Amino acid sequence: MNHYQHLWQDGSPGRFPTGKVVCIGRNYSDHAAELNNPVPDTPLLFIKPATAVVHLTQPIVIPKNRGEVHFETELAILIGQRLTSTTEENARNAIVGYGLGLDLTLRDLQSELKAQGHPWERAKAFDGACPLSPFVRAQALDAEHLHFSLDIDGKRRQSGDTSALLNPVLPLISYISEQFTLMPGDVVLTGTPKGVGPLHSGQRLTVRLQDVLCINTEIA
Ligand code: ZN
Repeated sequence: MNHYQHLWQDGSPGRFPTGKVVCIGRNYSDHAAELNNPVPDTPLLFIKPATAVVHLTQPIVIPKNRGEVHFETELAILIGQRLTSTTEENARNAIVGYGLGLDLTLRDLQSELKAQGHPWERAKAFDGACPLSPFVRAQALDAEHLHFSLDIDGKRRQSGDTSALLNPVLPLISYISEQFTLMPGDVVLTGTPKGVGPLHSGQRLTVRLQDVLCINTEIA
């Protein structure tokens, strides 16, 4: 049973249901390069279902005996309005919160699926595949200049800034909304910078967003 509910930074519950999580692959050129992937001409989108979402603040349970489980640290955007084929201006108004998410990936399985030309869902959409932090209210932050990082056992492993996104936040949300409607409570994950790698039981993770969010968690 998944008891996830969107939370604000002060611990109060968000009024939105838990929806789908729309993700983009290869949105930082340094990460595309580290996995020897070409940068696509159009945004490479995939979806994690609501059943994949768990609290990042809780110990993270990763699949066992299914090959490497990689972390990908990403800016998470909480959507507060229904968006269908929307403008960048409307996209900005629809963002209610910023947080951080881990796009957990069964990397060995994903490599197999990619080689076969199959969809990635089994590698990306499993239960628990999307730990999300509490959200900071959007008014305080600027979508185009958000810096975030991941430390594992005290060592910096990833750091990213939305100014380096190949598809910046507002055009990305506009594009997504042309493909499928975004609903209040949906989340957009904006892609990972370089530095991805395998997770192991007992690791301690610290994720930071600007100087407004700092979450300590661990791999169960
Ligand atoms: Zn990702």
